[in-house]
Amino acid sequence: QMDSRGIKRLLFSYVLINGIFITLQTKEEVLLDMRASGSELGWLTWPFEQGSKQGWEVVQRSLNGSQLYTYSVCNVGEHEQDNWLRTTFIQRRPSASRVFVELQFIVRDCNSFDGSSLTCKETFNLFSSESDADIGTSFRKGQFKKVATIAPDEITSRNELRINTETRVVESLSRKGFYLAFQDIGACMALLSVRVYYKTCPATVKSLAAFPETVAGGGVNQALREVAGACVENAVSEEPPRIYCTVDGEWVVPVGQCQCMPGYEAVNDTCRDCQPGFFKAFVSNDACELCPVNTKLLSSGALLCPCAEDFYRAPDDPTTGPCSGLPSAPRELVATTTQLAAGKLQLSWSPPEDTGGRSDISYSVECRRCEGTACQPCGEKVRLEPASTGLMDTRVAVSELEPHLNYTFTVEAHSGVSLFASQGLPRSNRPPSTSTLTTALHYTGRSPYLGVIVRSLTSLSLSWAVAPRRLMPQPTRYKLTYRKKDDNLDVTTYTVLILEKSSVQISDLSPGTAYLFRVQALSPEGSPGGSSIEDEFETLTEEKRTILGFWSEIIITDVSFLLFRRRNSHSRQGPEDTYFSSSEQLKPLKTYVDPHTYEDPNMAILKFASEIHPSHVTKQKVIGAGEFGEVYRGILKAPGRKEGAVAIKTLKPGYSEKQRQDFLSEASIMGQFSHQNIIRLEGVVTKFKHAMIVTEYMENGALDKYLKDRDGEMPSFQLVGMMYGIAAGMKYLSDMSYVHRDLAARNILVNNNLECKVSDFGLSRVLEDDPEGTYTTSGGKIPIRWTAPEAIAYRKFTSASDVWSFGIVMWEVMAFGERPYWDMSNCEVMKAINEAFRLPAPMDCPSAVYQLMLQCWLQDRSKRPRFPDIVSLLDKLLRSPESLKAIADFDPRVSIRLPSTSGSDGSPFRSVAEWLESIKMSQYSENFTCAGVVTMDQVLQMKNVDIKNIGVRLPGHLKRIAYSILGLKDQTSTLSVFAV
Ligand code: AMP
Repeated sequence: QMDSRGIKRLLFSYVLINGIFITLQTKEEVLLDMRASGSELGWLTWPFEQGSKQGWEVVQRSLNGSQLYTYSVCNVGEHEQDNWLRTTFIQRRPSASRVFVELQFIVRDCNSFDGSSLTCKETFNLFSSESDADIGTSFRKGQFKKVATIAPDEITSRNELRINTETRVVESLSRKGFYLAFQDIGACMALLSVRVYYKTCPATVKSLAAFPETVAGGGVNQALREVAGACVENAVSEEPPRIYCTVDGEWVVPVGQCQCMPGYEAVNDTCRDCQPGFFKAFVSNDACELCPVNTKLLSSGALLCPCAEDFYRAPDDPTTGPCSGLPSAPRELVATTTQLAAGKLQLSWSPPEDTGGRSDISYSVECRRCEGTACQPCGEKVRLEPASTGLMDTRVAVSELEPHLNYTFTVEAHSGVSLFASQGLPRSNRPPSTSTLTTALHYTGRSPYLGVIVRSLTSLSLSWAVAPRRLMPQPTRYKLTYRKKDDNLDVTTYTVLILEKSSVQISDLSPGTAYLFRVQALSPEGSPGGSSIEDEFETLTEEKRTILGFWSEIIITDVSFLLFRRRNSHSRQGPEDTYFSSSEQLKPLKTYVDPHTYEDPNMAILKFASEIHPSHVTKQKVIGAGEFGEVYRGILKAPGRKEGAVAIKTLKPGYSEKQRQDFLSEASIMGQFSHQNIIRLEGVVTKFKHAMIVTEYMENGALDKYLKDRDGEMPSFQLVGMMYGIAAGMKYLSDMSYVHRDLAARNILVNNNLECKVSDFGLSRVLEDDPEGTYTTSGGKIPIRWTAPEAIAYRKFTSASDVWSFGIVMWEVMAFGERPYWDMSNCEVMKAINEAFRLPAPMDCPSAVYQLMLQCWLQDRSKRPRFPDIVSLLDKLLRSPESLKAIADFDPRVSIRLPSTSGSDGSPFRSVAEWLESIKMSQYSENFTCAGVVTMDQVLQMKNVDIKNIGVRLPGHLKRIAYSILGLKDQTSTLSVFAV
């Protein structure tokens, strides 16, 4: 493009770089412009002396309407023309080593001159000469080098003016300046314009790098000039940015990329702050990204978006990724016990509702085992498979659980951000990531209880039992391991037997020697199940064989439990009275004195009971009948005493002196006691005809009746509270070395505050007074179903036999006054006990309570808990009512103790009334009749809601009737169901 002024021009061209057309700018810097100088050119012509010859001369011409000065020459008719025209000194720019010379000229056609065509020329020559200084008018041809011969493309004829434009390059310039010269050798021509310029690449910003204006082309003979640039503000590059400037003044091939720094993005050749809510973490030419979820929105220029409160990035999470919250707790944590028999259960749960936005959820399971209220980590004792931590599945198999313990499993959901959970920072709404489940395996019988042994001098017959439980497979094989107790510790020899039945006779043993036995149940697949604790049995010595007599002929059952194991393990010296020989046995402050030790029983009465004048006693109402006479409620109004309600026991007229003494012996015993849970003696009337015993009055009467009237209506907590009172009274009695012998719910009295007190003392009462008393083969009357086997067998009445009876009382209490062993005969009861059967758990009985009952009924009395143990255990249970939550397994068919589908004669119930009578629910007969339920078939159709609808409201009664119907439907009731 030519502009008329011609000083500076910008040329645009297009270059393909990396497949992209980019626009390049070229700039020209003009060093000399003939036309712009007008008439002031001042160029030197040579030869200086023109003479006749005409050389170059300035001619003013009119061209396209404008006036311009030209250098012309036209010596066509003459020979040997050599006319020079030299420019003024042209200053060079240091880096411009090559310049462009653009010429515009006209050359006349030689043919247009007649006859002079021989000498006429149509070309001219261009010369240059470098110099460091302006040499003024001194001119020497020899100093000039030829640049080119210039020939016109078009020659001007007579009629038409043809302007030629030619550009030549003068290269390799190195001095401060130079001259150009035009040599005419005989042409007729005019130089219209001479323009000398060099090209530059203009200052530019390319790819976030700024490059300065640069003279085009490299040094001598170099086409490209390398140019270093600098990254724009807030941009950086690994290698310094470079670009090349071509000879034509074009920028090409940028090298080294500038990229915006973190927090900046490229916009129009600059690096601009990220907008609010956007971030850029790295040096790159990417645009800023939107902040990810759960991050804080920062103001502009963010490098990263920090996590919002309660959200985190795991160490492995990209810092640019979203933040996540802690997972919420696993849900629906349940324990299933398909393999209860093997001491296994499966814990399973559902993933947390809120995973915190993460997929790397894993779980850990913590196990704690609790005995009473004391909990400790399960440690190695319990196996968790596949692992206890890092679980990807939502379940874990738990094995090697022990019975009688509560286990608390805590399942925690973890994710990559869980480590922040323990940072202890105050966190507002963070939900816990843990779920806890407390469970117990009520598989009383899972571990075999080493059972019945028949002992002889050289053999022991053992049997053991694993309590059957519904849905629980019975073990099919057992592993029995035994050894001599006092074997040389270095060489202990174990004998191992695999047995397919639950009993064995081991012969060839040494007489009077203790052996240690352990039985392990094997599951049908052969995997080991629960193991019994190691139990010790001794073969008989000659003397003992004779003492044990009748009872050892039957069997001695030895059922072992964990709870009292430790203590008992070192108090097992022998069968006789180990119970009292323990060093832990505290000697009571006061010991009970048997009134029989007094020669005159009246002396005992005088000593232990205070005499009341009959006029101070007012009888009001008969409240009961004893063997010796009526029992009255009355008022005692003695001087110096607070007036109050009392119970007055009277002695029937016509008694013998022996009877009178027996009657009064109760007072001499009772008078020795002073305890909250022992009925208090107010005094006696002995000096008058009608002897009386006056005691505190117990408004609610006998415990058994009291409970029967409130069947199912009292919470376990209250029932256990009552047991606690009875146990406290019994502890007191045992501390005084008093053996009650007739502990039963009927002999416990209840006052207005529901305090229970032990009553019914006296020497002959078991023989005479108690309707439950039954004559035994060994003589004497014994309440069989309350009495320990050793007391029945050989009248071994001890506090340990009282403990047995206390177990029965516990059962009576939990069963709301139900008769122990229901309608079994005494004979059947004894047989069952001897065969290691025990009462089953009453309905809704806390597991811990039932366990305690079973402890009380251990065959080996030395292993039974003692009353202080019982008191402290019950105390513990009452202090943590949670411990009463686990309910012992219950089998309705056994607990209702129906003759199942039949009446007492073995045939089905003939009427609804008969059935109701059998379950002691006759009071509802009318309800059934009114509702039209008159046949047993109709009864069997009834659902719980129907029972309610006909008017059975009390929960206990509802349950009893419903369970009975269940039992009627299931005809498989047998005694074996409540084997221990
Ligand atoms: P006993 O001869 O001690 O078995 O008493 C017979 C019945 O009299 C008991 O079953 C109670 O119902 C009642 N009885 C005995 N002593 C008391 C008392 N202290 N307070 C209330 N009732 C009593």
